[in-house]
Formats: sequence, structure tokens, C-alpha cells
Amino acid sequence: MSAIQGRRVLIVEDERKLAAVLRDYLVADGAEVDVLHHGDDALVALRQSQPDLVLLDLMLPGTDGLGICRDLRSYSTVPVIMVTARVEEIDRLLGLELGADDYICKPFSPREVLARVRALLRRAHVWQEVPGAAPAVASGPLQVDEERFEARWHGQPLELTPVEFRLLKALLERPGRVLSRARLLEQIYLDHRVVSDRTVDSHVKNLRRKFEDARPGSDPIRSIYGVGYKWEPPGA
Ligand code: CA
Repeated sequence: MSAIQGRRVLIVEDERKLAAVLRDYLVADGAEVDVLHHGDDALVALRQSQPDLVLLDLMLPGTDGLGICRDLRSYSTVPVIMVTARVEEIDRLLGLELGADDYICKPFSPREVLARVRALLRRAHVWQEVPGAAPAVASGPLQVDEERFEARWHGQPLELTPVEFRLLKALLERPGRVLSRARLLEQIYLDHRVVSDRTVDSHVKNLRRKFEDARPGSDPIRSIYGVGYKWEPPGA
């Protein structure tokens, strides 16, 4: 069964033809798709009922993609793919730390979009819906429950996006070893064109801030200049 089968996808896109093409591809793959053309409509709709994934255009009438993503991230970790018309825009978006899980540039092929939607939903699907009793992974003050897609740091729940959760897992699997940005990119995105190493930097920065918020002075991720990152809790 496709990872998309029966999943609810919201397309927020003001170019109607483009939105219709995307919808047709996703529906053909088994998704239930809603399309909104105005940013303000999306803002309201997302507050009322959350889809399993959002394809979010950056430039929209009314509230733009930035505003929608910010608002959404204040209460939800639903996977978001941000769509922009300019590749140069992506660096700026990453700098804003919106918490989007992936970025796609126009023009794109609908097949490529479909592949990325599948990849994100496949991950989310595994976490949320595979039954069973896989034990929570404990690493000192960190507790990770993959089945529930939950993590706690010193007892405090961490609100992680799917990308941050995968990043954390990648680091945990190699404690004390330095992982390059390229290696981390491979692990946090199933399929993608590499946009920029800054993608990783941006996600790591967000992840570290969440650890710090949970317990000040406890950031367990070390940055190795010019190389990458490693998992090394203070005192370890
Ligand atoms: Ca647009």
C-alpha cells in the first residue's frame, strides 16, 4: 500500500492549474486532497482540521507561506513541504527557521513532488501507525519513543518536527562520532536534491534550541568546525 493511500494532503497554491495538476497526481496515488488558493483560508482551515501533510506555496494572496508555516508550527508538527518560485529564496527561508520539512523549487515535476510527499508520509506513517511494543530508547537523560514519535530530555517533552526527529535519531545511532552534513542530509531526507548544507545547520540549530529550552546548559550536540556534528551530552 502506498504511503499516500488514504492520507489527507492540503495543497495551498494560488496558481490554479498547478494546484489541479498536483491534486490529480496525489489523488491518483490514493490521497484525499483539499486545495486552497488563498493564504487566509489556509490559516483558518489548518486551525480547524489538520491534514497529514501540507504543500505550501510561499507567495500567496493574503497570509503568505511564511506566515502560515509560522502559525502552524506554533501548535503542530504536521509535515510541511514549502514551495517557492526561486531557488535563491531557499537560503533565506532556511535562515528564518520556519520548521518546514522540505523545500521544492518551481518549476518542478509533479512526479518529484509525489516522491517527496511519499517520503515524508512514509516516515510519519511508520511512527504514528505501526503497532507493536518497540521499547523506548534511553540514552542518559534522553528518552525516545519511536513508535509514538516522542522524545523527552531530562523529563521534559521535546516538540520535534519529523526532520528534527530523524536528525536526532541519526546522531544517536553514532554517539561520540562526528557526522558530516552530507551524511546527516542523507539520513534526514529520504530522497531529495541537496539544496544546501545550511539545511542541516538550520535544523541542528532548532534542535539545539529545543534541548536548551527543556534544560538550560544541557545542549548535547557538538559542532565540529568544518566537519559536522556529533552527539555528546555534557559530562558524557
Ligand atoms: Ca504563488
